[in-house]
Amino acid sequence: MIRLQGKGVSGGVAAGPLYFYRRGNGEIERREVADTAAELARFEEARKTAMEQLGALYEKALAEVGEESAQLFESHQLMLDDLDYVESVQGMVEGGLNAEAAVADTAEIFAEMFANMDDAYMQARAADVRDISGRVVGILTGAVAGGIDSDVPVVLASDDLAPSETVQLDKSKILGFVTRGGSGNSHTAILARTMGIPAICSVGDALEDGFEGREVIIDGQTGEIVFDADAAARDRLLKKQAKERALKELLEKLKGQPNVTIDGRSVMVYCNIGSPEDVDAVLQNDGGGIGLFRSEFLYLQNNDYPTEEQQFQAYKTVAERMGGKRVIIRTLDIGADKQADYFQLDHEENPAMGLRAIRICLTRPEVFRTQLRALYRASAYGKIAIMFPMITSVWEVQEIKRICANVREELMREGVPMADYVELGIMIETPASVMLSDRLAKEVDFFSVGTNDLTQYTLAVDRQGQSLDRFFDAHHPAVLRMLKMAADNAHAAGIWIGICGELGADVSLTETFLAIGIDELSVSPSSVLPLRSTVRSIDSSARRDEILAELAR
Ligand code: PEP
Ligand code: MG
Repeated sequence: MIRLQGKGVSGGVAAGPLYFYRRGNGEIERREVADTAAELARFEEARKTAMEQLGALYEKALAEVGEESAQLFESHQLMLDDLDYVESVQGMVEGGLNAEAAVADTAEIFAEMFANMDDAYMQARAADVRDISGRVVGILTGAVAGGIDSDVPVVLASDDLAPSETVQLDKSKILGFVTRGGSGNSHTAILARTMGIPAICSVGDALEDGFEGREVIIDGQTGEIVFDADAAARDRLLKKQAKERALKELLEKLKGQPNVTIDGRSVMVYCNIGSPEDVDAVLQNDGGGIGLFRSEFLYLQNNDYPTEEQQFQAYKTVAERMGGKRVIIRTLDIGADKQADYFQLDHEENPAMGLRAIRICLTRPEVFRTQLRALYRASAYGKIAIMFPMITSVWEVQEIKRICANVREELMREGVPMADYVELGIMIETPASVMLSDRLAKEVDFFSVGTNDLTQYTLAVDRQGQSLDRFFDAHHPAVLRMLKMAADNAHAAGIWIGICGELGADVSLTETFLAIGIDELSVSPSSVLPLRSTVRSIDSSARRDEILAELAR
């Protein structure tokens, strides 16, 4: 038996074989081949596998996000079948080049050709040809699309996973995550919590490649990892798993019950999601609405900007499935750890303070307008609200509102149906937005506090920093005082305030949040019922004055 220790970042016990995420290393080997017929056959076999994968992705996208998005995979199949493309690869292989290098060279020739065309649509196809070629190269080199090639569900191990990799994983294959690096506030950990999958990060080099395939049990709460557990350890951990399941069943009884304290105070308990698929978990856990739809994950799943129609379908699906409950969609928050190559953002020394989130939208209005058009169009199908991330100044909000009004007018002229009123809110996640919350509150319909970034910027501690855990203290009085200040200013202006950062699910602070006057808590779907249970056990008036006095002290 081998025991390792990491940092538990998403609770739950999982048991199964360990499997390392398969990622191509980006380097393509070049070599001369003598048996060109065999190499041509290798290429043909890989092309066939890629075609099958694209067919499966088409079916998956069709079921999950609709025809418009699914068509992308159909067009990729056509590209992979294009005679000029295939003949180019074949010609190079017949000349003695290995298949992966021939595919990569052909991709560059075609991408260059597309990029030099006058038509913007054709220029954008450069990314597609690189994408399909990357898939074929991945198959030829043994790297796996989606990172997992296993018939049975696994505990997925990796150095670290980028958010764009995590969103593309086949969730039905994953029992848990263990990573050598990473932090509890990274978006990968947040995604694991959204999916309700146990996860452990910061295990370090003790997580050896040689553990591949061995039976492992992980405890995502304590960070314990046990390989080839002896009877006692197995028994202890599996008992804990059974207990967790029993508790879950107990919490089931709270479905349909209100989130009301003993003294009758109501709080809205909403959910954070990253994709339309997550609505299943919201409905299963009886979420009262969606307090944060991280729309950037739609961008991270794609190899090119999602079109207005693709986005419209995704937002409409979520709005319709939530059946009139509030759905707060945050405009794209790309940048920092959430990178999509096609945005071609310049390298930055401090990306968390760089061109990210609303700054990208205000710098690239065409990207912003496409998303806003999709959002306003989808507003006809449910109760959509729009939220803007990383606000620091009043002028940003005024400019955003002008752009929104403009987009609305444009759609109105086109006769497109829309909701009569769409609430606009902002994230309070920079110290500047807290300090200006009195003025900002007069501009919008609601505030939602992003405690992940607010903690990072207030305490000047990188939320991704692995060895900074001790300093990343979301309970810090500076953070809690900021919450109070923003809440007071929100209420003075007659608007509501919520928390959508990870702190919202921290039940050790629920009583404090109620004392501060927080109106809404948006948490991962699996945290809804535990939070409801806590809310219902609190008498919010009992210690209110004491808590506020302690904060002010
Ligand atoms: C936050 O910063 O708290 C937040 C909710 O947004 P994200 O984690 O996506 O940055
Ligand atoms: Mg944030």
